[in-house]
Amino acid sequence: MIKKVLVANRGEIAVRIIRSCREMGIRSVAVYSDADRSSMHVRYADEAYRLGPAASTESYLNIDKILEIAKACKTDAIHPGYGFLSENSKFATMVRKAGIIFIGPSAEAIDAMGDKMTARDLMKKAGVTIVPGTDQLPESEDEIKKLAKQIGYPVMLKASAGGGGKGMRLVKKEKELIPSLLRARSEARNAFGNETVYMEKYLEEPHHIEFQILADNHGNVIHLFERECSVQRRHQKVVEETPSPFITPELRAAMAEQAIAAARSVNYSGAGTIEFLVDKDRNFYFLEMNTRLQVEHPITERVTGIDLVKAQIRIANNEPLYYKQDEIRQYGHAIETRIYAEDPQNNFRPSPGLVRHISEPKGLGVRTDGYVYEGYEIPVHYDPLISKLIVWSPTRAEAIERMKRALFEYKITGVKTNISFVQSIMESDTFVKGNYNTHFIDNNLEELL
Ligand code: ADP
Repeated sequence: MIKKVLVANRGEIAVRIIRSCREMGIRSVAVYSDADRSSMHVRYADEAYRLGPAASTESYLNIDKILEIAKACKTDAIHPGYGFLSENSKFATMVRKAGIIFIGPSAEAIDAMGDKMTARDLMKKAGVTIVPGTDQLPESEDEIKKLAKQIGYPVMLKASAGGGGKGMRLVKKEKELIPSLLRARSEARNAFGNETVYMEKYLEEPHHIEFQILADNHGNVIHLFERECSVQRRHQKVVEETPSPFITPELRAAMAEQAIAAARSVNYSGAGTIEFLVDKDRNFYFLEMNTRLQVEHPITERVTGIDLVKAQIRIANNEPLYYKQDEIRQYGHAIETRIYAEDPQNNFRPSPGLVRHISEPKGLGVRTDGYVYEGYEIPVHYDPLISKLIVWSPTRAEAIERMKRALFEYKITGVKTNISFVQSIMESDTFVKGNYNTHFIDNNLEELL
């Protein structure tokens, strides 16, 4: 039985995990860098230990130090959160070798899904529809050009090891293909230490729609419906909602079936997300699987009533899933906006620093997952996410109005934020109508600013 969990993370997600631990009667252990000494996750945990200097490589990515603390404090399990070491199979293996439970899937599942080409290959075999594209590219430039022609321009060059919206390059014409490929390879080598690049059909006006999966160690796999994540900037999500206003019940069922097949094909365990692209004719294609808890998990919790962190811990404890598929309901509508310390007027530059005043929205149907308080200094070293604002209402129209009301109440001074930017998204006709694709922000940037 898991009685103590070390949270190998920081910020809002560390707080989020510690909260569920406390509700379960599990002791929580925080680890922190020098920049996070006075962070909320340190205050909320039962125990807290210093990792090292602020730089991630010396703190939240320092596997040896984390393991040293884990052993010394005799933790039963480690929760990696998202980002940092959450999709690092070497970390998962080392944790397990130390006799500690890693709250997440097997190292094999992380590796299979962490490499885009391997994942595409596996999915094809599992009967999951993938974006039309190539395997390993041939040597000959002419052959590569021939493949691109077969796929049809525009094509997307993707680093197999890519992630976080990085390592993608759009190619519109044949004459750009080889120069772009050479650049993509050298970028991939620098960013991911692996220059493997493949080619994919570029879908012109896609929706990004993903399914939440829970899988236990007893062969049960269920889905907790979808999240519409098409409001993106630089391939990174800004607003998420569920249900998706775009898909039909038939499409939802077909996508859910493939999502479950995808998870089964890698013997998945824990919480995971299958991402799809859906084109305007509502054809859908597997994009990737994230083998961890997602930033946007709270909207799923809100419409299903299921605490995903508790579910992760119970699964890691070898307990069977508490719910059968037909007991899962999608009730009402939830929207999340990501509140960042950044300046939309200055190309969204991060705006870390001292928070002089913060008052968060409250009231019916409002949840904030944050970690920032008055007098807190947002460090320059990490992602500038301040909090996630989640609202729920019985209907989508009312959820949008509630989000506007909550954003109106949200006041932060000392640092610049994107609050008024996400407020403009809520007020945009395109968003309100619900048929928006991944180009929504780019296509409407002037109006939204
Ligand atoms: P990452 O692993 O870096 O997050 P993904 O493969 O998940 O990259 O893609 C992130 C986003 O990039 C998608 O949500 C979508 O907006 C865009 N994208 C990726 N592949 C394609 C494609 N083939 N056609 C059009 N857009 C794409």
